[in-house]
Amino acid sequence: MNEPSKDWEQKKLMLEDSFRFSCHHGVSCFTTCCRDINIFLTPYDLLRMKNHLGISSGECIDKYTEVVSGDKHVIPLLVLKMNETDKKCPFVGDEGCAIYDVRPWACRMFPIDMDQEGDFFTMDVADRCFGLNEDRQYYLSEYLEDQGLINLRDVEDSFNELTGNERLRDVEVDNDAIKKMVFMATYNIDEFRRFVFGSSFLSKFDISPTRVEKIKRNDVELLKLAFDWIKFGLLGRIVLKVKDEVVEAHTKNIAEGEDGQ
Ligand code: SF4
Ligand code: SF4
Repeated sequence: MNEPSKDWEQKKLMLEDSFRFSCHHGVSCFTTCCRDINIFLTPYDLLRMKNHLGISSGECIDKYTEVVSGDKHVIPLLVLKMNETDKKCPFVGDEGCAIYDVRPWACRMFPIDMDQEGDFFTMDVADRCFGLNEDRQYYLSEYLEDQGLINLRDVEDSFNELTGNERLRDVEVDNDAIKKMVFMATYNIDEFRRFVFGSSFLSKFDISPTRVEKIKRNDVELLKLAFDWIKFGLLGRIVLKVKDEVVEAHTKNIAEGEDGQ
């Protein structure tokens, strides 16, 4: 039925609220929402995409994303780059999404949205999403589970803490070196791995051998370390500890500098 759903209204949804929705090949709008749309990508989206596609994070960023945050924003925001010619998502085909198993968080959520506080809302799409007329009924809690969103939540919430932080959201940063480091730690996970294991990072921070082993083997653990590093560096959170000997050497250097003045 190509008519706007009469039941769908814009409102906040609680986990126990229900709605009708089903997206499948049979709906007349199938894949139309994968065109000319801003799909925001989280670092975890990018990580899953690049691993699925078997390419580096740098290549994935260059090929499939666009940076939409302002020049001075310290936390970058990336969207999926639509094709220049037909404005379609590069992953959409007649059969649907070619990266369905690793589709971004925003694609899984549709037609629901989540704000920085973690509240859920219906999106204003009744006039174009005819899946809202289907008989399948979901409780919101069931829908989130069905879309695989619960399993992603832990990592996504950690990133939301950064994008939702007022200090980071409103601050304007001119220092390109800081912005580059934050970009690397959020989206360019392969470069961040090279940085962690190829610089003095591990000799400066007190990171347990167990955690080091985990970050060697598991990209998600590496991403969590990256978020901790940003929280430590930009927000002063004590989520990482600088080694005692590094603090002592630093204190000594300052004292010697003062003596020499
Ligand atoms: S990633 Fe998949 S679901 Fe998301 S817009 Fe592209 S084709 Fe559609
Ligand atoms: S508009 Fe709705 S029903 Fe149609 S393809 Fe997109 S999500 Fe599915």
